[in-house]
Amino acid sequence: MTTPPKLVDPFQRAITYLRVSVTDRCDFRCVYCMSENMTFLPKKELLTLEELDRLCSAFVSQGVRKLRITGGEPLVRRGIMGFFENMSRHLDSGALKELTLTTNGSQLRKYAADLARFGVRRVNISLDTLDPAKFAAITRWGRLAQVLDGIEAALEAGLRVKINSVALKGTNDDELFDLVDWCARKDMDLTFIEVMPMGDIGNEDRLDQYWSLNDVRAELASRHSLSDSAESSGGPARYVRLKESGQKVGFITPLSHNFCESCNRVRLTCTGQLFQCLGQEGEFDLRRALREHPDDDAPIVEAIHKAIALKPKGHDFDYSRQQVSGQMTRHMSHTGG
Ligand code: SAM
Ligand code: SF4
Repeated sequence: MTTPPKLVDPFQRAITYLRVSVTDRCDFRCVYCMSENMTFLPKKELLTLEELDRLCSAFVSQGVRKLRITGGEPLVRRGIMGFFENMSRHLDSGALKELTLTTNGSQLRKYAADLARFGVRRVNISLDTLDPAKFAAITRWGRLAQVLDGIEAALEAGLRVKINSVALKGTNDDELFDLVDWCARKDMDLTFIEVMPMGDIGNEDRLDQYWSLNDVRAELASRHSLSDSAESSGGPARYVRLKESGQKVGFITPLSHNFCESCNRVRLTCTGQLFQCLGQEGEFDLRRALREHPDDDAPIVEAIHKAIALKPKGHDFDYSRQQVSGQMTRHMSHTGG
C-alpha cells in the first residue's frame, strides 16, 4: 500500500519536489540573469546553513522526495559541502530519493568528488556555448576552460551530467548541432531553456534574445528523426529522442507551453520565502516561523502546509503580441530558476 501524499495543494497536486536557492550570490554575471552591478542581500537576511537544514528536513518529513540545490551559484556558498553532507542522512534513511544541484560548473573541479560521496548522482550544469569568447560575453565574469574542466571532474566522479543551455538568438543559435554532438560524445543529456522575463538585467533586451524552442526543435528535426518521449519530471521540460542515436534532448518552454497542471514543485529562496509558482509573485515567509521557534518544528510544518494551500493554479508569462507581459521583477538568481 502506498502512503497518501502529505503535501497536496488546492488543485490536488502532490508537492514532492523542492528547489532551494542557498545563496543569491554568484561568481558569474550572466547577461540574462543579473546586471553587472548587483546588490546582494545583507548576510543576516539569508538563512543560515542550520536553518536551511531544518527547513529542508521539515519538507522531507512532509513527503518531499527530491531536493534540488541552486542559487545564485550554490557552490560559492561557504560551508555548502557540510550542508550536502548533512542532507545525505535523508538519502541514507530512504526518506529522500534524490539530492541534486544546478550549477554553473565553475567549482566542480573542487567539489565533484565530495558531491558524489554525499549521494548526489546527477547534476545540471549550465552552459550556453562552446566558444570561449561568447562564453565570456554571456557570463561576463566566467571562463569557459574552468567550466569545461568542472564538467570533466563531474564525469570523472561518476556523476550523470545534464547540460542546460539557454537558447539565445544571435548568440548560440549557430551552435545547436555543436552542442548536441558534444553532449552525445560525452554521454550527457542536453536541455534547452527559453529565456524568461525575470528581474531587471540592465540594458539587455529580452525580445532580441528570444529564440523560440519551436525553432530549435525544427532545426534539430532538419538533421534528425525525433520521437517525442513520454518522460516527464512534472515540470516545464519536454523531451525528444534522436532516433539515430537515442540521445535525449529536452526543451524547457515555460512561456509557450502550459505545464502547470502537472506541477509538483515549490521553490524556497535563500531568505526563507516559499514561492509556490515560478511565474507568480505570491510568496510565503517561512523564515519567521523558523526564527520564532528555534526548538520546535511543529509550527514550521504548519507554516509549510499553509503555504502549500496557497499554491496558485498556473502562471502568466506571455511573449505573444511582441511584448513581454507577465514580467517578473524578481531575479532568477533569487528563486534559483
Ligand atoms: N548558477 C547556477 C547555474 O547557472 O546553473 C544555478 C542558478 S541559475 C539562476 C539556474 C538556471 O537558470 C541556469 O540554467 C540559467 O541559465 C537559468 N537562467 C537564469 N536566468 C534566466 C532567464 N532569464 N531565462 C531563462 N533561464 C535563465
Ligand atoms: Fe550566476 Fe547562474 Fe545567474 Fe549565471 S545563471 S549569473 S551562473 S546564477
